[in-house]
Amino acid sequence: MSALMPTYARSALDFERGEGAWLVTTDGERYLDFGAGIAVSALGHAHPSLVAALVEQAGKLWHTSNLYQIGAQERLAERLAAASFADLVFFANSGAEAMECAIKLARKYQAARGEPERFRVITFAGAFHGRTLAMLAAGGKPEHLEGFGPAVEGFDQVQMGDIDAVEEAIGDNTAAILIEPVQGEGGVNVAPREFVGQLRALCDTHGLTLIFDEVQTGLGRTGRLFAYEWLDVEPDIMAIAKALGGGFPVGACLARAEIGAAMAPGSHGSTFGGNPLAMAVANAVLDVVLEPGFLDGVQETSLRFKQKLAGIQDTYPGIIEEVRGEGLLLGLRCGVPNGDLVKALAKEKMLSVPAADNVVRLLPPLIVGDEEIDEACLRLERACAELSGGA
Ligand SMILES: *Cc1c(COP(=O)(O)O)cnc(C)c1O
Repeated sequence: MSALMPTYARSALDFERGEGAWLVTTDGERYLDFGAGIAVSALGHAHPSLVAALVEQAGKLWHTSNLYQIGAQERLAERLAAASFADLVFFANSGAEAMECAIKLARKYQAARGEPERFRVITFAGAFHGRTLAMLAAGGKPEHLEGFGPAVEGFDQVQMGDIDAVEEAIGDNTAAILIEPVQGEGGVNVAPREFVGQLRALCDTHGLTLIFDEVQTGLGRTGRLFAYEWLDVEPDIMAIAKALGGGFPVGACLARAEIGAAMAPGSHGSTFGGNPLAMAVANAVLDVVLEPGFLDGVQETSLRFKQKLAGIQDTYPGIIEEVRGEGLLLGLRCGVPNGDLVKALAKEKMLSVPAADNVVRLLPPLIVGDEEIDEACLRLERACAELSGGA
């Protein structure tokens, strides 16, 4: 019997170590990791420069708290601001916490402007923003909310792509609109570019802030540093997390200067947020992701992968109905239960991640090589053959 709370339906796989895009079980079996710990291990496993940064910092200083100056935190904030629309950054430890900061900030900003009655946030069907009480309400998924008491007040959900519904949902109490540029958990749904442009215009007209949840898409996953770069629309507030620490827990909320300035000493905080260990690793992640050519490489890999996936879809249209996504955040909409494909892939020693809408997500580390892409496609073909009873 496990002493763990039964919150997860875990596979029996148990990994001992990893190297690049590969994981090795305690029995010595090698698995091709196209889940990357749910888009977290962006630089793969045991990346030498991340290991070096962690080990070096571990011998010097782990934690001091935000009562004191933290040079590496200042540096990471400056670098994230320089590489984005933002001017100010708050560090947290997870995606949900980064999103909590984003929502608190959107409300605080309206209050600071003298409109404290504006606290509601418009969100979209299929959204996922994390598992805190407020983020459950933001996501609005009944299965996630059930049994946890009244949902936190202040979230209004509409259909993605329905701009009239968004306009109708805007009222005197609306503070912000929150969207994932690409829904990850929701099934790899890319937000239509024109729609996001219309959201930006509505925010400008009505004095709302536009919040992007880039917890899954940020830090290169889509082939640009941030997914919003594909949209020609900038947010006012943005949450990032998953890839930021390459596996070390860290999240961040970014904002434009005028908005971030609504916070004051005492407004918000985190004991662990932005501690020296997390900052050392996140700065090392950024060193790699910002290297010239790195993101171009992700786009080239994505193109190769998408072309091959389209070929496999042609061969097995009953198994793979659609290939969608951006960069290396790809989704296979399945004609069989998505869990069956995840299991068939695991039998071929390849890891993938299920998502809503009967989708299987393929999220390799961003450092994945062409040979590994080719190998993944061979394994996927074998899994499809098995599911169609052909092998
Ligand atoms: C994973 C995820 C979160 C939640 O992050 P946690 O670190 O699990 O709290 C929030 N938003 C999006 C888009 C995510 O993919």
